[in-house]
Amino acid sequence: MLTAVAGINWGDEGKGRMVDMFADDYDIICRYQGGNNAGHTVVSDRGKFVFNLLPSGILHSGVVNVMGGGMVIDLEHLCGEINSLTARGVRLTPDNLKISSNAFICMPYHRMQDVLEEDRLGDNKYGSTRRGIAPVYGDKYMKKGIRMGDLLDKPSLEKKLMDMLQWKNLTLCGYGAHAAQVAESMKWIEKHSPQLIEFIFETSEYMYDAAVAGKSILFEAQLGALRDIDYGIYPYTTSSQTLAGYAPIGAGIPGSKLDLVIGVMKAYSSCVGEGPFTAELSGKEGNELRNAGTEFGAATGRARRVGGFDVPASLYGVRIQGADEIALTKLDVLSSLDRIPVCVAYEIDGIKTCKFPTDSSLLRAKPVYEYMDGFKADISRCRCAEELPAAAMRYVRFLEEAVNCPIKYVSVGPKREDYITLA
Ligand code: GDP
Repeated sequence: MLTAVAGINWGDEGKGRMVDMFADDYDIICRYQGGNNAGHTVVSDRGKFVFNLLPSGILHSGVVNVMGGGMVIDLEHLCGEINSLTARGVRLTPDNLKISSNAFICMPYHRMQDVLEEDRLGDNKYGSTRRGIAPVYGDKYMKKGIRMGDLLDKPSLEKKLMDMLQWKNLTLCGYGAHAAQVAESMKWIEKHSPQLIEFIFETSEYMYDAAVAGKSILFEAQLGALRDIDYGIYPYTTSSQTLAGYAPIGAGIPGSKLDLVIGVMKAYSSCVGEGPFTAELSGKEGNELRNAGTEFGAATGRARRVGGFDVPASLYGVRIQGADEIALTKLDVLSSLDRIPVCVAYEIDGIKTCKFPTDSSLLRAKPVYEYMDGFKADISRCRCAEELPAAAMRYVRFLEEAVNCPIKYVSVGPKREDYITLA
């Protein structure tokens, strides 16, 4: 069974929590793209964990976690994540964690370039996390990257770095910054790689053998459909493919077909960073939703942009993810609202449409809002459809119809057991 869990919206849909929930049913969990530019939160009986790089199945014994070749990895950040897990009693060994030798390394000079470029853009910034993700993916396609497998041959790696930094410094110095030095880069690598070497594998072969042997594999995405580099709200996207269709490629088994795509969709909208966000609600309505969903950046405390459920964007997200079924998250957040705002369509140049524009007309789109009855009840302890208030169930069925995809799971809280399976 090959299953992908992918985001339908802008990210932060609660994918990590869903992956953690499904993890026991799978032999392997594989992160197939992205870097440490987003966090997946998992609340287990051991407390709250945030994973930026490690797959969200890492807390389950008997599950092999694979970091696929489609990822970009900041060695220092990964060591930090591993150390904090170890400190909390989670044991990581080459048996439960495997890092692809094909994954690219996000170097300190990538972070530096990210900061320099966001600062240069000023008011027109993309809202980058400044963690070097766009520069490292850019270098990958310029064929100037270094990969995890290079850590196994340091003399050759040092030579590659000499060639690459000559090229990279043309850019860094163009910003007026200091040139990156080979010795400094090698020192950083020497400091952070020893701990990681034992986890580096040719994971493509491992994944292929596992798929052929009929093992069950769950592919985990970072961010959501609207952040996909090819089909998202470019350039306010991430720099990799967040779509389920890319999962087998990023995981190293490009010829394999997915059996199931579970789209994770949030009961309302939130968007971190810049770019068009048609359903955005401001003022009292926005504040109420933001507070109810505690939509504030984990690291910065910065208020996230929020809005009602966005039908055109989610319909598009379901389509490009190829979702077979939906896991709806955060329904409990709407408990306090008297009426639930839903952006049912966009109005563009005076024309009402449910089609999500993929061109610059998106910038002119205005939300068409309708309101549904609120359910005004604590639903966090509901464990079956019959326990949900009728108004909550009406909302779920409304969304199901609006995005034309069955909702199979409804999450009513952040903890592992806080969910309902619908028939
Ligand atoms: P991801 O990147 O898609 O995994 O999402 P994040 O972890 O960034 O954000 C989801 C946040 O919502 C986390 O803090 C989760 O613990 C929390 N969460 C997930 N599902 C639910 C839910 O059904 N209800 C509530 N109240 N919180 C949830």
